[in-house]
Amino acid sequence: MGTLRPLIDKLQVERTLTHDEFVRMFTERNPEDSEYMRALAQETAVANYGHDIYLRGLIEFTNYCRNDCLYCGIRRSNDKAERYRLTTEEILECCDIGYGFGLRTFVLQGGEDMTYKDDDFCELIRQIKKQHPDCAVTLSVGERSRETYEKYYEAGADRYLLRHETSSPEHYAMLHPAELTIENRKRCLRDLKDIGFQIGAGFMVGSPYQTYDYLAEDFEYLRELDPHMIGIGPFIHHKDTPFRDMPDGSYEETLYCLAILRLMFPRVLLPATTALGTINPLGREEGIRHGANVIMPSLSPKDVRQKYLLYDGKICTGEEAAECHACLEGRIARIGYRAVSSRGDHADWVRK
Ligand code: SAH
Repeated sequence: MGTLRPLIDKLQVERTLTHDEFVRMFTERNPEDSEYMRALAQETAVANYGHDIYLRGLIEFTNYCRNDCLYCGIRRSNDKAERYRLTTEEILECCDIGYGFGLRTFVLQGGEDMTYKDDDFCELIRQIKKQHPDCAVTLSVGERSRETYEKYYEAGADRYLLRHETSSPEHYAMLHPAELTIENRKRCLRDLKDIGFQIGAGFMVGSPYQTYDYLAEDFEYLRELDPHMIGIGPFIHHKDTPFRDMPDGSYEETLYCLAILRLMFPRVLLPATTALGTINPLGREEGIRHGANVIMPSLSPKDVRQKYLLYDGKICTGEEAAECHACLEGRIARIGYRAVSSRGDHADWVRK
């Protein structure tokens, strides 16, 4: 037994730790305690969600972006990125295809592409909801004004993913250009929650210059924000960004963070992300064994997949939606879980 058992037991009961205790969770990380925590995290997920895994159909609908985040492959100044945007018809077709597989959540993710005007984007949301009234629409399109978020919600969007990336202003400034601030990021998350969205925050594990102090701050911020969803994955370098020579985040540390999050938030919607599946071929399965309960198969058309590259080596870029879906269903079944066809809302959420 390592030194962390008492902290892990405390985390399970109190759902949080002090800053120094969070730091110790990393500086004293060891195999025995990691396995102890993993088993507790998996039990916690099973106690809340059984062996059900929720699927979200991910539609990467544009890689145009006004921002220049230093880690991201579709940053504005990457002139090697081949840009694309899907038409309304193409997006609706992705939804139809996904609906046929049993998907009941569509996630529209993209760069901050300002050519989609609020009214047009709201019309798209309305059309998806009209064609598929039993489905949830999740948006992941970055920082907007409160007024714009209100319009999206009124148009029928249910959830919003906006990773905070890092909660420390100092670290945030090392990952982003000066015009982007953690204050605005947090303002967005507060507004989104206040408006009534199910919100998702999160961060990259092992992003450049991340320290255990910064990670501890991320857990503390998440405790305070109390989001419905938390997306984390390892940082993976992209060859055409300023972080091309930075080391990738650690696979084990990412799994370890998932287990911590499951103990902190027993009912949170926690995806085993594509980035986790990219740094290890069994990453998503291991994510589930560490407490994750969501997987996001891509519904993006095959011809644009290799263009939505946030990092190098991204998996599933040569596949059709049907192949991706079948592959993930198989992976989930092989570890004794089942992919369920339901919206998979957070238990505490009702539309206001
Ligand atoms: N423009 C949207 C969507 C961003 S892409 C937004 O700002 O929310 C979704 C997530 O991918 C980001 O929040 C970031 O955490 C992650 N990501 C970006 N570049 C990455 C990289 N190089 N390695 C791992 N994850 C990355």
